[in-house]
Amino acid sequence: MKRSEFSPNGSAVENLIRQTLKKHPSPIMLIRKNMLEKQYRRFRAFLPNITPYYAIKANPHPEVVKTFQRLGAHFDVASASEMNTVLNLGVSPQKIIFANTIKSIEDIQAARKRHVTLMTFDNEPELYKIAKHAPGARVIVRIKVENAGSIVELSLKFGADPEHAVFLLRKAKALGLSPEGVSFHVGSQCVNVENYIHALEVSAAIFKEAKEEGLSLSILDIGGGFPIRHADQDKHAIFETMARTIHSELSRLFDKKIKFIAEPGRFLVGPAGVLITQVIGRTFRNNKNYYYLNDGIYADFSGIVFDHCKYELKTLRRGQRFLSTVAGPTCDSFDTISLSEELPELDVGSVVYAKNIGAYSSASAVPGFNGFAPAKILVV
Ligand SMILES: *Cc1c(COP(=O)(O)O)cnc(C)c1O
Repeated sequence: MKRSEFSPNGSAVENLIRQTLKKHPSPIMLIRKNMLEKQYRRFRAFLPNITPYYAIKANPHPEVVKTFQRLGAHFDVASASEMNTVLNLGVSPQKIIFANTIKSIEDIQAARKRHVTLMTFDNEPELYKIAKHAPGARVIVRIKVENAGSIVELSLKFGADPEHAVFLLRKAKALGLSPEGVSFHVGSQCVNVENYIHALEVSAAIFKEAKEEGLSLSILDIGGGFPIRHADQDKHAIFETMARTIHSELSRLFDKKIKFIAEPGRFLVGPAGVLITQVIGRTFRNNKNYYYLNDGIYADFSGIVFDHCKYELKTLRRGQRFLSTVAGPTCDSFDTISLSEELPELDVGSVVYAKNIGAYSSASAVPGFNGFAPAKILVV
């Protein structure tokens, strides 16, 4: 390692990276607890009437779940296995929503056995399954809403037509279930507040229609989607601006007695993550610097594929920048992180890191493709 990389200048994050590398080999996924707390408090401050159910699929690490538990969060799980992760840490089943509209019979039975009674659905066959295997469950209908401008589309696969929502809720009641409310998901990393406004208006109409038909609904679940900044140039305070609008729309459209919940994933955990990698090889091809890192697409940069995410790659080096290709360690050309990074000259051992990579990264990493293990996760 060049001494210049370990000089005491640079930002707090860079100093943390230097300290960490003195004790641990890379790749390392640092999850900073103070950032988890900060994001949780930001959410509570700007959406004070909404109970956050952390969507653990974003990052199911037990220390992350424990941190949110300590802060008082509820949890959104999508499978019996996620349910067990949360329950085994001592979370009360009353604080869990089983928010997958398509559940296997085994998973519905597991929910019943472990007293997780609140779940979402978006179709009639699912209601028959729930009524048979978790009789009396409390159900929330998920409706299809606009996902325009969100980075990850979620309405292509899920959500009932809003026109069918009341019919489905009445059907639930007829089957002996307890119809409790409406949910939606505007798409992940949603920067278009119109999606929320539209979804809230459609939901309010369903609440009204249900009431007219003698069903009184009590829960509105506004899902996830709350955006974070991935790169330094991204706009500041976009969450705050959107949250103010959501907050005022909720009071305009809904009765005060309605219980509001949300399922934030990325927002709570994304900014806490810093991925630290090092260059393991370099070459000059096609008139370009090529750097090979000890982490790639199959592991902690998997969000590039599954989350459609563009991370900002940073180094501890300063100086003139050159167009560079950055690739992962596996023997696969697909394992290319970027074809067009402006990076200073790097050597074997140089650090390349990415911030805001705590969500949908380690969670979707392949355990050991080609023999390369994902980054060690350090919750600090
Ligand atoms: C993935 C998911 C979430 C979390 O979404 P974010 O965009 O990360 O906030 C919430 N609810 C459901 C049902 C999901 O599938």
